[in-house]
Amino acid sequence: MKTIYGPVSSWRLGRSLGVDLICSKEKICSFDCIYCQLGKTFKKTAQRNNFVSIEKMRAELVTALQVITPDVITFSGTGEPTLAKNIDLAIQTIREISNAPLAVLTNSSLMNKKDVRSTLSKLDIVVAKLDAPNEEIFRRINQPADNITFKEIIDSIKKFKKIFTGKLALQIMFIYDNMQFVDEIAQLTNNIKPDRIINNISELIE
Ligand code: SF4
Repeated sequence: MKTIYGPVSSWRLGRSLGVDLICSKEKICSFDCIYCQLGKTFKKTAQRNNFVSIEKMRAELVTALQVITPDVITFSGTGEPTLAKNIDLAIQTIREISNAPLAVLTNSSLMNKKDVRSTLSKLDIVVAKLDAPNEEIFRRINQPADNITFKEIIDSIKKFKKIFTGKLALQIMFIYDNMQFVDEIAQLTNNIKPDRIINNISELIE
């Protein structure tokens, strides 16, 4: 499988070249969101690991950049990007070969770890998922791995906001299960004060 994919035309980020540090046929994620475009999570874990070598990523990226000039290079793909232990080294490596802004689409679940917050603070854009107003709805929609709690995620996004000098966006997927909590979610986002809020409406709403 390819570590570098795209470019993808993203209304959020522009012409985005994707970096998939998970690169797995079966999605590896700390969540199993009920609306996930990738289908069910078969490997649900919060355990960080190295899935792809940085040499492979570098080689593919150098080749891609010979023919593509992206607006942004984005960590995303077949699972939660911060599960990749080598994401810090990947950021460092990409900075050596490209001046494009660097972004990540994250489910925010590992932001409770100081080293993850420190790594993410090296990016230009962090798009963090926030779909729920409370623990119960969080469990129902995002179906997290063991020991991941809603409160810890909210606290860690707030902590991250304090150290991050880039642009923080909160991405909210509205589906049937959280539609009635628009006000509560808006209150939460007001408290976090992101630079941007991205609302998506799922096809799951009938
Ligand atoms: S966090 Fe993203 S990749 Fe993981 S299950 Fe949810 S939508 Fe899918």
